[in-house]
Amino acid sequence: MKKETSQATTVIEDIICDICGESVIPSEIKKRLKNANDFSDYAKLTASFGYGSKRDGERFNFDFCESCFKVIEANVRESQGK
Ligand SMILES: [Zn+2]
Repeated sequence: MKKETSQATTVIEDIICDICGESVIPSEIKKRLKNANDFSDYAKLTASFGYGSKRDGERFNFDFCESCFKVIEANVRESQGK
């Protein structure tokens, strides 16, 4: 005999760009997804600073959509060119 119980699970409903506030998931794909748990086609920026850094202990996690990432990428490339 199986004893059943219902458990509340938390799923990722959407992933929002930290710059423009738009969803990073294209609407076509969003229609087909039950949740965004496995969605990974977007830009992520993770930074953590440790001992000896002025930002010791600080952690950052940002998500960016494709078009905002393009702006960041352009900035990086521009800096490299200098
Ligand atoms: Zn964006």
